[in-house]
Amino acid sequence: MFKKLLIANRGEIACRVIKTARKMGIQTVAIYSDADRNALHVQMADEAVHIGPSPANQSYIVIDNVMDAIRKTGAEAVHPGYGFLSENRKFAEALEAEGVAFVGPPATAIEAMGDKITSKKLAMEANVSTVPGFMGLIEDADDAVKISNEVGYPVMIKASAGGGGKGMRIAWNDAEAREGFQSSKNEAASSFGDDRIFIEKFITQPRHIEIQVLADKHGNYLYLNERECSIQRRNQKVIEEAPSPFLDAETRKAMGEQACALARAVDYCSAGTVEFIVDGDRNFYFLEMNTRLQVEHPVTELITGVDLVEQMIRVAYGERLSLTQEEIGIKGWAIESRLYAEDPYRNFLPSIGRLSRYRPPAEVATSTLAVRNDTGVYEGGEISMFYDPMIAKLCTWAPDRTTAITAMRDALDSFEVEGIGHNIPFLSAVMDHQRFIDGNITTAFIDEEYPDGFAGVTLDEDDLKRVAACAVGMFRVAEIRRTRITGTMDNHKRKVGTDWILAVEGTEFPVRIEANRHGTTVVFEDRRIAMKSKWTPGDTLTIVEIDGEHHAFKVQKITAGYRIRYRGADVKVRVYTPRQGELARLMPEKLPPDTSRMLLCPMPGLIVKVNVAVGDEVQEGQALCAVEAMKMENILRAERRAVVSKVNAMAGDSLAVDDVIMEFE
Ligand code: ADP
Ligand code: ADP
Ligand code: MG
Repeated sequence: MFKKLLIANRGEIACRVIKTARKMGIQTVAIYSDADRNALHVQMADEAVHIGPSPANQSYIVIDNVMDAIRKTGAEAVHPGYGFLSENRKFAEALEAEGVAFVGPPATAIEAMGDKITSKKLAMEANVSTVPGFMGLIEDADDAVKISNEVGYPVMIKASAGGGGKGMRIAWNDAEAREGFQSSKNEAASSFGDDRIFIEKFITQPRHIEIQVLADKHGNYLYLNERECSIQRRNQKVIEEAPSPFLDAETRKAMGEQACALARAVDYCSAGTVEFIVDGDRNFYFLEMNTRLQVEHPVTELITGVDLVEQMIRVAYGERLSLTQEEIGIKGWAIESRLYAEDPYRNFLPSIGRLSRYRPPAEVATSTLAVRNDTGVYEGGEISMFYDPMIAKLCTWAPDRTTAITAMRDALDSFEVEGIGHNIPFLSAVMDHQRFIDGNITTAFIDEEYPDGFAGVTLDEDDLKRVAACAVGMFRVAEIRRTRITGTMDNHKRKVGTDWILAVEGTEFPVRIEANRHGTTVVFEDRRIAMKSKWTPGDTLTIVEIDGEHHAFKVQKITAGYRIRYRGADVKVRVYTPRQGELARLMPEKLPPDTSRMLLCPMPGLIVKVNVAVGDEVQEGQALCAVEAMKMENILRAERRAVVSKVNAMAGDSLAVDDVIMEFE
């Protein structure tokens, strides 16, 4: 076996590869940029080599720099992870020229599949079913409109070099085709350095279902079943699962066999993924083949028990696959949630900064439950603007789908991330969504169910009372401690009362507390909530046993109460004595400043274009300007009809979050 492996990547995937290499007794080499000097993958590897400044195009994707690191350390093999150089033909060739093993497919297969136009043509030749469309290149916006009309709306405008959901727009009419063509082209140019665009039919009500393939250099091809990745936002996967709740055995086999046929057509070896789009009648169409390890590979590992990274390394060394198709079964159900540094309350805009708190739930691996968290960050570390906004991949596995979902809810409830905006509340909301629970999903799920974005979850009265009960329980514990401390100095000892008013979401509940050594019972007018918890003041997470069930609440002290986060809801509970309650009712409410006449920059970023000038009347939905952040171009639009009175920024300006871009009359 190889003695030394270099991982040409960063973040969670570099850490994940290092884990398997270590298990196999292989020495590991990490590479890192300026921003990643103290990154987790650097800490985990046996050796680490600095390869350049923070921007990936000056470090991680500079082939010469990576080759230098290989020479310097004498690594015999390279695992590229995903993204970066993983699907770069020139990199695979450079390694081959130096006699270093590439833990991936042959350069010819990368080349054939790396381009969406070429791969689609190849798939058609291999009798794999493909999405109808126009296979030529689109020259300009007029051409895009013409071709879109020929293909028939809705259409998908795609960058041939695209990946990671970037450089892709749906268009329902000529105006959108024109605008979509331009933004796809810009995004493709800045993300991939290749702005070729093509157009295909947009499959409506689609599900994204992909097949994991594995092949060796001796002509053996296997499929390791499917992953369903229909929960996407902006064509970027958010939640994945295996198996798919939609496939039957027959469709699974047909898709698996077509995937293997395509792999065979390009003499594939290593792990790879053939992505399909599946319509409501289970017709499936080839989308693209990813010639690398996929972000969401852990769900496949959890249901098959196969370590894909280990298999990739063995195949690269020349070993034969020791598994047969018959041996690959489906055991249980696995779900993955991608934690992104994206603020769900601000339309999922990327958020950067220091992780002032990062406490994932404990990993578990038993015969009835698994919790796995693939991550590349740590508490105190920084989420920088240079790379992907993914913080972690949280997976749960259980014998059945319902139990896996329940496990995911609990794991999300006890996952603490502070200091940056993140999507945990949104992930929790999806886990509680009836359509998701029923498995009735399409790639339009998020757009359809959250058309105005995500505004948080409103708890039903039952849950709200549980949260409120938990808050008053904690309040009482804190009060008792406080009176003990001050009581020694006071002559007349204060007694902690039993009657309280709980103010939650505009509703007030008078309660009485009964406490004894078995726990605390909070008595509402219409129900009693018995709870047990080991919370002490200062704890930011509490596991509370309520009526025999365990719930995890994230807790933060606020004036006169607690902020509690639970199941995607973010609730402030104020606890008053009956007298304070009366006074609180007389206090005027503090109003936030009026920003309705301003366009604020929703994230730190670069202004690429300002579309309007002072005096312009803009209509609702009209594009006002474009801001680039984390390689994505975000178009900011008018919320209502207005007249522009002031423009404070121009193309090329770097803005901070909440900077005022323009003002309206
Ligand atoms: P990427 O390389 O960025 O992953 P894909 O071609 O795999 O690009 O597409 C990403 C996602 O966009 C898919 O998972 C699917 O949800 C959606 N998509 C792509 N093409 C189509 C299409 N023709 N019709 C409907 N949805 C599509
Ligand atoms: P796709 O969306 O192309 O079908 P994935 O969902 O597997 O496939 O996403 C791959 C994307 O992940 C890459 O295109 C890249 O934008 C991003 N990426 C690359 N390297 C890293 C990394 N180290 N950490 C997080 N994300 C990364
Ligand atoms: Mg894809």
